[in-house]
Amino acid sequence: MSAAARIARRVATALGVLLAACAVAAEPVPYAGPLFDAHLHYNVEAASGPYPLADVLGRMQRAGVRAIVANSRPNDGTKALAASPLARAAGVTVVPFIRLYRDRADYDSWFRDPSIEAMVDAELSAGTAAGPYRGLGEFHLYDSANADGPVARRLMQLAERRHLAVLAHADDDAIVRLFAHAPGARIIWAHTGIGGVPVARVRALLAAHPTLMGELSYRPGLTDAQGRLAPAWKALFAEFPDRFVIGSDTWINARWDAYESLMTDARRWLGDLDPETARRIGWGNAAALFGLPDPR
Ligand SMILES: [Zn+2]
Repeated sequence: MSAAARIARRVATALGVLLAACAVAAEPVPYAGPLFDAHLHYNVEAASGPYPLADVLGRMQRAGVRAIVANSRPNDGTKALAASPLARAAGVTVVPFIRLYRDRADYDSWFRDPSIEAMVDAELSAGTAAGPYRGLGEFHLYDSANADGPVARRLMQLAERRHLAVLAHADDDAIVRLFAHAPGARIIWAHTGIGGVPVARVRALLAAHPTLMGELSYRPGLTDAQGRLAPAWKALFAEFPDRFVIGSDTWINARWDAYESLMTDARRWLGDLDPETARRIGWGNAAALFGLPDPR
């Protein structure tokens, strides 16, 4: 090899290293702060099966999750999390919600079933080892007209009166109906419209209802195929930085398997935001809703 060829090769190698470094630098840094998982289930299939308390709390700890909205079918899983010294040891604050389901059959009738109201009253009176319940849900309204069911209406009024947040899996029409029952209720909109309601409609609802917050698991269109935040959502978060939270939605055991990668995914798209907005959505908004201090 001639001297000129050797020099040319060294220059090419150096350029290659430089270009690789630039490519790495161009990749946004994932959000590295604390996470508040505002949509977590610890259902009987997990708790009594392959995911005991030590296992799920280990997953949360490794994912940097420092607080959770806990709810479960039936409510025993939530109470076990709330009572566990392992939660404290893992540095996870448990914010307990009352699930409206004793079993799967309740999904389709809770909104008109007075025995669900009685269960909610009993749970509210009993509370948990981590303190009083802070919310109701997650509940589902697959048909938005069921938001006007007598029990749905009364539970919304109860939530407003008792300052309980509500985690609602519903379409935009049902969200409007729920607010009609209780205009000041604090509704966390599970998935912010799992059917993919247009961003413009989400924006209009946030503007119309100051106590509405959006939880972002399973939200269609939030990210692209590479897991990067979509421009329309980035713009919405810039407009409403204090109105969104993240969640895992561990509704089936497979979601527990994926728990740490779900949180890694969230950290990746949160990294596409400015650091302050990322921290609000990743931690601060949910923490403020429930009065939690910053984790040490
Ligand atoms: Zn869920």
